[in-house]
Amino acid sequence: MTAPTALPARVRTRFAPSPTGALHLGNARTAILNWLFARRHGGDFVLRLEDTDTERAVPRGEEMIYEALDWLGIAPDEGPREGGPFAPYRQLARADRHRARAAALLESGRAFRCYCRPDELEARREAAIAAGEPTGRDARCRDLPAELARRHEAEGREAAIRLRVDPGPVEFTDLLKGTLSIDGDDLGDLVLVRSDGRPTYNFAVAVDDIEMEISHVIRGVGHLSNTPKQVLLYRAFGVRPPEFVHIPTVLAPGGGKLSKRRGAAGVLDYRERGFHPDAVVNYLSLLSWSSEDGEEFLSREALVERIDLDRLGAADTEVDEEKMTWLSGQHLRAEPAGRLARDWAGRLDVEGLGLNDADLRRAAEVFAKRTRLLSDVASEVEPIYRAPETGGAAARESLSAPAAATAIRLARAAWADTAWRPEPLAAALRGAMRDAGLAGRTFFPPVRVALTGQLHGPDLGEVAYALGQERTLARLAAAMPSAPSETGD
Ligand code: GLU
Repeated sequence: MTAPTALPARVRTRFAPSPTGALHLGNARTAILNWLFARRHGGDFVLRLEDTDTERAVPRGEEMIYEALDWLGIAPDEGPREGGPFAPYRQLARADRHRARAAALLESGRAFRCYCRPDELEARREAAIAAGEPTGRDARCRDLPAELARRHEAEGREAAIRLRVDPGPVEFTDLLKGTLSIDGDDLGDLVLVRSDGRPTYNFAVAVDDIEMEISHVIRGVGHLSNTPKQVLLYRAFGVRPPEFVHIPTVLAPGGGKLSKRRGAAGVLDYRERGFHPDAVVNYLSLLSWSSEDGEEFLSREALVERIDLDRLGAADTEVDEEKMTWLSGQHLRAEPAGRLARDWAGRLDVEGLGLNDADLRRAAEVFAKRTRLLSDVASEVEPIYRAPETGGAAARESLSAPAAATAIRLARAAWADTAWRPEPLAAALRGAMRDAGLAGRTFFPPVRVALTGQLHGPDLGEVAYALGQERTLARLAAAMPSAPSETGD
């Protein structure tokens, strides 16, 4: 790793996805790092849509990107939806600017018109290969006599615009890989604008990064080979290149490329599966760097505070869903009960179960720790509220055990005037059991079945708290319809 460099006056990062499909975890990680780094340094995070490959664009591509960023809570400061001082933020809409920049390079002599058609260039390349000659640089139009150029123009030949690339090293520094160099001869005279007027990919990216005053380009390592071409363009325009950080690849669980076939590759699949978005942000951040004290469960604020590009790891990393699930549980636990209750409300049949906001809030207070995914509410919380009669015959049997009626009566009595909090409720129940000289295995099962219809589950103080006083006492009463009232014997 190279020595850290001084920060520019204003940190500006960008995330530049193509609207070609669902945002996968690798792209999301790139967005998150750019966002964190900008936040850390009080800078700007720009979303630029690289939509020039119209053939690969998918319907709703842009919406899908926004949907994923919104879910992750990664808000661009500038972008197609947000607007901003460097609009437009869709690359296709910037094509005139790219062409104007190419015209300026023609004007200054840094670029030239090339009249060769792509098929001619290709045929000459193949001929050179067949003759065993170096393909080198096909410079036929580089210093075309003016007379010939005029003739081509008169014939109506379309010209591409190409950058004059001299032999010699093109050097650049990547934060992770150090200084890299490639010879200009290996790059050739880059095409900037194709003969049909469409700017090329690297030209558009470099012009946009220059015009949007991007200070740090943080992107996937797959773009490393584009970087020297872009650096040449910075040079041609006399602009200092940004800091480049090419981050390693996120691999599918078990290795290999992320894809739909290999588990959930799309960020929004993790939403469907009930992951807490902060856990996904936390997890993807730590795929790239580690905090100094090794702490792994980090809130958004903590991530912003601690992100340090100098601690980036260089190795490709496989997605570890077990760890992401663990982190999801940690973030659920840290979530304010009111917020978690609102999410749970959308995942439960609140009407069928007869749940109100206060019920859900109490449930969130005590049961969040039993869940790791938001979707766990179905297995961990819902059974508590279902009518106990639906709990199954084996469980109901425990209600006919000899001590069942006594246990339920004692529970009703113990809870009749106990403060409705989990700890006092649990303590009152234990006290009643002790006073009656009953064993836990005799005392607890009928009480539990009376409350939930289940033989197993969370601490009964928590169960009663979550059910609420009214529902709890009513369920106990209903489990012993023939018994006298709790104060009557
Ligand atoms: N559009 C490119 C991609 O989706 C990113 C280009 C860049 O970051 O320079 O991978």
